[in-house]
Amino acid sequence: MKIRQINYIYPNGSNYIYESDLSYTTSNSESYILFNSFNQKWIRLDYIGKFICNQLNKYKSMRILKENTLSKFNISEDCFYEDIRGFIEYLIKNNFYTFKNKKNKKELKFNTKKNKDIQNYPLNTIYIRLTNRCNLNCSYCFNKTYRNNNSDNAISNKIIIKRLKEFKYFGGHTVAFTGGEPTLYNEAKIIQLLEESENIGLKNVLLTNGTILGNLNLKKIISYIDTLQISLDSMNNKTLEKLWGTSKYTYENILNTIKKIDFLIGKLNKSINIILTPIVTKININEVPILIDDIKGIIKNANFNWYLNKYQKIGIDKIDELYSLDKSDYSIKMLKIFQKNNNVGRSVQKVYDIFKNITQRKICKYPCKITCFPSFFIITNGDVFPCQALEIENLNLGNIKNNSIHALLNKKKFQDLLQNLNINKIEDCKNCELRYLCSSLCPSKKYKKNKKYGPLPEELNNCKNDLINLMWLETFKK
Ligand code: SF4
Ligand code: SF4
Repeated sequence: MKIRQINYIYPNGSNYIYESDLSYTTSNSESYILFNSFNQKWIRLDYIGKFICNQLNKYKSMRILKENTLSKFNISEDCFYEDIRGFIEYLIKNNFYTFKNKKNKKELKFNTKKNKDIQNYPLNTIYIRLTNRCNLNCSYCFNKTYRNNNSDNAISNKIIIKRLKEFKYFGGHTVAFTGGEPTLYNEAKIIQLLEESENIGLKNVLLTNGTILGNLNLKKIISYIDTLQISLDSMNNKTLEKLWGTSKYTYENILNTIKKIDFLIGKLNKSINIILTPIVTKININEVPILIDDIKGIIKNANFNWYLNKYQKIGIDKIDELYSLDKSDYSIKMLKIFQKNNNVGRSVQKVYDIFKNITQRKICKYPCKITCFPSFFIITNGDVFPCQALEIENLNLGNIKNNSIHALLNKKKFQDLLQNLNINKIEDCKNCELRYLCSSLCPSKKYKKNKKYGPLPEELNNCKNDLINLMWLETFKK
């Protein structure tokens, strides 16, 4: 391609230029990204790259680009062609720009084979609530109504196992056992479920607060699970008492249980994940990075990971006032606390890992039309809901006693829900150029409030910035 002979260059679809808030974390001057909405591709830009792309987006003319670049950077014409040739060639080769003004109005093509979408629905995880009972009395619990209803799962293991086999047949991958506190459920029944589920070929996840896990037959439990998710909020017993509403359990005891589990994992020589999932409130925000570091320090055999749940208002003014965090710059503030407490330095990989876990956001691997992929949530009486956050009576899909997984998947209510989760139908997102890459903003709270799907206004605070920061961090991995 002879750069000197090109007169016009057009954006292929639309090109957007963003600046990342995280450029302070590296010494790199390339703090911008160029995003192409037609190809859903992005690259990192430095200041000069940004200038060139801005000029091309605005004037589409190589002549104007040349004139403005020469005057801005005080360089010669030869130097201009020499320096920009490789860059322009790269932009054209990667379809950010084109010679032809074909004004790409075509819809973005979705590859349905690669792209998990409405037509190709991935039934990935099934959640089973083993009991409503809980041994804690968390002040932030949004589930108090269920917690006070002391029922255990009333469905026989035989029926559950039958449904798990169907779930596997339809492409199911993981079963998450939850509560209340699931370790309060009948131990023999838990072990049987875990064992059968493993035999079926499913991955088992146990979601627990960890306080009484040590009372169970850990050797057996560990041999059947793949992931242990522990919702521990602090290493400070006073903070735990405030948050959990009881002084019965101490951090040291839970730490001992985790040590024991890690030891058993080493003996079993099996790949098991331990994931820490603290709730971040105003009172434990500074303790969380230390907690994560402490647990990380004792784990030798498990794969350790963590992610944060930012406190969500529960509608009780006194508690919301006490725990709520500023929403607007939560992720950046949290990142700074981590950087202060951990030796993060300028390692982009470390910043990326931390930021991803703080925001709990993911960039869709392939452009995707659906906002999220609800799986099934089976409550103690066997009724099935589209997911844990959508346990709402008008979304009750039926009971597993008399409905197969296939029948539940085909329920009109469920199919309608999937249609409604199409990002192009979500009022606040349908015009956002990043919508096909954006995932992990839960539409359930808005639905509970006014029967409309989508993020709440406060959840839209900084949503785009978080995503842009993640996209920028990802360019370092590419
Ligand atoms: S994002 Fe919300 S609605 Fe969607 S699956 Fe997750 S919890 Fe359910
Ligand atoms: S949540 Fe925010 S970033 Fe994501 S699609 Fe909606 S507006 Fe865009």
